[in-house]
Amino acid sequence: MDKKYCAYLCSGCGIGDALDMDALAEVVTGEMSMDCKTADCFCGTDGRALIEADVGEGVNTVVVGACSPRVMKNEFDFGDGTITLRANLREQVVWAEDKPAEDEEPHAEAAEFLNETAADYMRMACTQAQKTELPEPHKLENLSRKILVMGGGIAGLTAAREAAAAGYEVTLIEKDDKLGGKANDWRQSFPTKSPWTDLEDNPVAAMISEVEGDSNITIKTSTEVARIAGGPGAFRVTMKAAGTETEWDAPAKVTGEERELIEKGEMENPNASLVDYMEADPNAEIHGAVVMATGWVPADVSEYEHLGYGAIKNVVTNVEFEKLAKEGKVPANVAFVQSPGGKDHDMDFPYCNSVTSMVALKQAQYVCEDNDEGKAYLLYQHMRTPGSQELYYKAAQQNDGIFMTKAAVTKVEENGDKLKVTAENTLLGEDLDLDVDMVVLAAGMVPTTKEEDTINLAYRQGPAFIDLDLFDGYADSHFICFPYETRRTGVYTCGGVRKAETIDEAIDDATGAALKAIQCLESTDRGVSVHPRSGDKTWPDFFMQRCTQCKRCTEECPFGALDDDEKGTPLPNNTRCRRCGTCMGSCPERIIGFTDYNIDLIGSMIKSVEVPEDDDDRLRVVVFVCENDAYPALDMAGMRGNGVNHMVRFIPVRCLGSVNMAWIRDALSAGMDGAMLLGCTYGDDYQCHFVKGSEIANKRMENIGETLSTLGLESERCATQQVAITDYDKIPQIVNDFVEEIVEMGPNPFKGF
Ligand code: SF4
Ligand code: SF4
Repeated sequence: MDKKYCAYLCSGCGIGDALDMDALAEVVTGEMSMDCKTADCFCGTDGRALIEADVGEGVNTVVVGACSPRVMKNEFDFGDGTITLRANLREQVVWAEDKPAEDEEPHAEAAEFLNETAADYMRMACTQAQKTELPEPHKLENLSRKILVMGGGIAGLTAAREAAAAGYEVTLIEKDDKLGGKANDWRQSFPTKSPWTDLEDNPVAAMISEVEGDSNITIKTSTEVARIAGGPGAFRVTMKAAGTETEWDAPAKVTGEERELIEKGEMENPNASLVDYMEADPNAEIHGAVVMATGWVPADVSEYEHLGYGAIKNVVTNVEFEKLAKEGKVPANVAFVQSPGGKDHDMDFPYCNSVTSMVALKQAQYVCEDNDEGKAYLLYQHMRTPGSQELYYKAAQQNDGIFMTKAAVTKVEENGDKLKVTAENTLLGEDLDLDVDMVVLAAGMVPTTKEEDTINLAYRQGPAFIDLDLFDGYADSHFICFPYETRRTGVYTCGGVRKAETIDEAIDDATGAALKAIQCLESTDRGVSVHPRSGDKTWPDFFMQRCTQCKRCTEECPFGALDDDEKGTPLPNNTRCRRCGTCMGSCPERIIGFTDYNIDLIGSMIKSVEVPEDDDDRLRVVVFVCENDAYPALDMAGMRGNGVNHMVRFIPVRCLGSVNMAWIRDALSAGMDGAMLLGCTYGDDYQCHFVKGSEIANKRMENIGETLSTLGLESERCATQQVAITDYDKIPQIVNDFVEEIVEMGPNPFKGF
């Protein structure tokens, strides 16, 4: 596109009071060769009308020097045909001014420092405008609007029902020969309304009838997925009769050891030709999105030998007891053991949770309802009854037939027709011996993804969700910010495969997952990203002529968006892509980029920063800031008047995973004195919106530190910091401390070369 630029400098919100606006306009018109206009308030009606009039006259690339790009988005949206870039002069320059402490005199050059900072932000924004092109959304020609729901239990039934009610065609598959899943065996369900004390009828039969009568839903029982290829909008799904093996089955999972052998060429990659393989299946059915509601399985409790499961008759799991209760076979004296006891006094059974606590209360009620003299003993380490369920717990406390105590069960043994349960460390301060008819163990709820490969993807990174072991088998990609979303775009989980849930919660959850699947379909139809970068029209472009087939992008993409051919050339799947840019950060050849975010664009922004020589008061430190948490936290710090050292220049990035080490080299060879990456926490409690981006970036930074050492530069000139959005009060100090370290090290010795 032929660009016609204009920059707009806003003097509102204190910007004009703090900055020399004429000098700033001169930087834009002189150095950056762009027209520049100034007004008191560009977000107001008159200010916006001024820009709109210019756009009407042919300006198609607008640079706004004003508030943060995170605010006033509608006010500074001039339509799809106009490129708009924002320089954050308010939150991250004027409001974040590096003020002296109360007992310090202001620096004589404080005003100059502030103007220099603002000028650099305008230089960077203008450079960004010069290097940005309008994106062409990637649209599929034959997008399928059908949704595949895997699993016909409460969650699957709900997801199918809700998607169908919204007008979408659904295929519902269930591996058993009937719908309903485990809920078919539930006698009653928990209270869902005031006074929260009355058990309710199991809704599953009514839900099955509803789904069976819905003409938008095709039901396939005794059916499993053999393999799923493709991506959002066009998943190619091969189904098979449950329990059978077919030529289309996914290959075995590749272990870490095997992966190494494959990389060395000592083993054939069973996933290498998966794309061709699936395209060859003439019976594959095309679906636009997948809702995975494959449920949970009871955790194995046989390892706790002192509790006797599997060895002693009448020691059963909570799942088995519920079935007995439905059949009316509830004995009169029952002990409910909620934690292993034995040596692990303080522990719960694996995968125990609030649902298993509630189940024990419900089943204790069955004991009293079905037997005149019924006695239920609940022995627990933790009872979890969240929200209004607490009222159900309190009602159980008032039930004369229910006895509850914290206790560690040390032994269950046969005692004639009865069972003897021995427990210690009780709330009564005494050890307990109970004679009961039955012992019920609170087996936890293990997601089916932990036990088996239910998804069977034809993806280069393998048929299962990756790194499941790190997340206890749960497939969520970001439990807090993006519920339902897995590490495979277009596949959403709900119900017990996502987290332990009551029936009521599973119904809510599945409705959410169905909506996500719909959102995915509609976004894919528009050629835009689903989330976290909702609505993003860009996608990674590969300059394949220079690809060395090193496979780094294929392996590092957190979402399996890249397959590859037999030589290792990446085969992008744009609808699977979340636009994080991790592939761009990984590529040593620097041949991956987006129209508005690429190696040259950010490299040029870095080089546009003015780096003074021989001035210890004017060192320069570039900080690459994750746009998801760290950038808004910095804005908040500015709003609270927390000052940032005047030597710092922030550059927002999509994810730290997208930071290519070429940018660090660009910064240091441009004479900058330090470089920092400010992004999300990684590890078990990761916050990275793209799962692995910040962790990958950290590893790359360790390597660049070593490279710097070989060049005679201190490795400490580069650093990575993990922060969360709630760290707005700490981030300025983190950045300022880093600057202090750089000041102590002194200027970059290569400055000026
Ligand atoms: S942008 Fe992210 S999701 Fe897309 S291909 Fe690259 S690494 Fe994968
Ligand atoms: S990282 Fe770059 S060079 Fe390596 S395979 Fe991917 S595109 Fe090719």
